[in-house]
Amino acid sequence: MTEHETRVDVGIVGGGPAGLMTALLLKRRGITAVVIETRTQEQIRHTQRAGILEAPTVNMLVEAEVGSRVLTDGHEHEGTVLSFDGIQRRIDFQALVGRSVWLYPQNEVFHDLATAWQREGGEIHWAVTETAVEGIDTAAPRIRFTDAQGQRRSIEADLIVGTDGSRSMCRKLIPEDVRTDHFISYPFAWFGILCEAPPTAPELIYANSEIGFALISQRNESVQRMYFQCDPDTDPEDWTEEAIFDHIQQVLGVEGEIQLKRGPIIEKTVLPFRSYVCDPLSHGRLVLAGDAGHTVPPTGAKGLNLAFADVRALVPRVEEFFTGLRAQAVTQADGVGQEPASISGAQGSSAAVETPEPLRRYSRTALDRVWKAQNFSYWATNLLHRQPEENPFTHKRRRGEFDAITDSVHGQAYFADSYTGWGD
Ligand SMILES: Cc1cc2nc3c(=O)[nH]c(=O)nc-3n(C[C@H](O)[C@H](O)[C@H](O)COP(=O)(O)OP(=O)(O)OC[C@H]3O[C@@H](n4cnc5c(N)ncnc54)[C@H](O)[C@@H]3O)c2cc1C
Repeated sequence: MTEHETRVDVGIVGGGPAGLMTALLLKRRGITAVVIETRTQEQIRHTQRAGILEAPTVNMLVEAEVGSRVLTDGHEHEGTVLSFDGIQRRIDFQALVGRSVWLYPQNEVFHDLATAWQREGGEIHWAVTETAVEGIDTAAPRIRFTDAQGQRRSIEADLIVGTDGSRSMCRKLIPEDVRTDHFISYPFAWFGILCEAPPTAPELIYANSEIGFALISQRNESVQRMYFQCDPDTDPEDWTEEAIFDHIQQVLGVEGEIQLKRGPIIEKTVLPFRSYVCDPLSHGRLVLAGDAGHTVPPTGAKGLNLAFADVRALVPRVEEFFTGLRAQAVTQADGVGQEPASISGAQGSSAAVETPEPLRRYSRTALDRVWKAQNFSYWATNLLHRQPEENPFTHKRRRGEFDAITDSVHGQAYFADSYTGWGD
């Protein structure tokens, strides 16, 4: 079969939030992009994942002109509740650091971004197969794939952005002698449910007890998201509805003020915990953003927000890279009979290239924030989860740490500052 060939400034592998936000913001700067995605739009639209957005994430959605649903349908949370052994303490984000977070589900973020990209005529190929990325160490990298209609396609670009999630194939293209994979796994997981019930409380509750952790989160007025700590090998089908709600209620304290609102469970999943960082996030003409470059355990609600923070750091550096490339192309075109180095519409070179300096700087800047988020996610996870070897001493020590945070305005401010995203 003949291969359909096109050329574009930037080829984006992965049409999740990081990929779509990158595509939209590049388009605003006159840089063309094509996105390819293995799943269908419907599949992503109905996958439940993150729910808490930091203020800069919300601002990006507003500034990218994807619509104002995040402001009209999202809920501002000015604080959260931390609970240990049935004793609740509220962390007042607004009073402590003057910031809030927003509850707005990731599948709605995705819907807004995908709608905006398509409304503006952005090219995206859903449900692709056989993706391959070639030539990332040349000036003319290329994505090859089969589209949903079975047509083989090839996209040549000046730059490839790998936003293909936690199982990224793009990051494996960074040679092993250049790449460091920092990875740890945790001895527990989250058992997540979606249930048809009204909210139990106006804000999220992060609860811990001698039997482990639970998170009471929300989706909307009639569907709620809850999690509890479980063994990574847990089979969700081994737990009945009643056993799930009784267990979560026990973590909150059976006699306490907070009584769970129960309702039919419509989804059950087990989510393993991992921390991963790929260093560097750029190599040759490939950059990574979002979960493709790093993953965090979900305790700190950082994954989606980090993906957007990457995009904030990346887009100006990509613009700088293209400004340099275009200036170089003009200079070369002024020379006698020379071809431009490589920009859209021009023939790219297959000679090996160094990683451009703006893309190196992106990697350094993004990784600084990634490690701050890794630290907070790791710390909050270990503070709030029962450890496998836990004994009365280690439980009371964790309780002491919890009190040191929640009894002190400085401790509370540390939590509030980190949870709401350090104000940048
Ligand atoms: C249960 C759960 C709860 C979470 N809760 C939170 C939370 O409360 N707050 C928070 O901030 N984060 C949370 N996260 C993390 C958050 O969902 C991720 O960090 C976020 O999805 C990252 O976005 P992304 O665009 O980088 O990756 P993804 O959303 O994973 O998108 C990557 C896309 O690339 C596609 N893809 C993969 N391979 C290819 C290929 N070869 N070719 C083409 N396309 C490809 C995938 O299909 C996918 O659509 C949670 C995650 C889970 C699983």
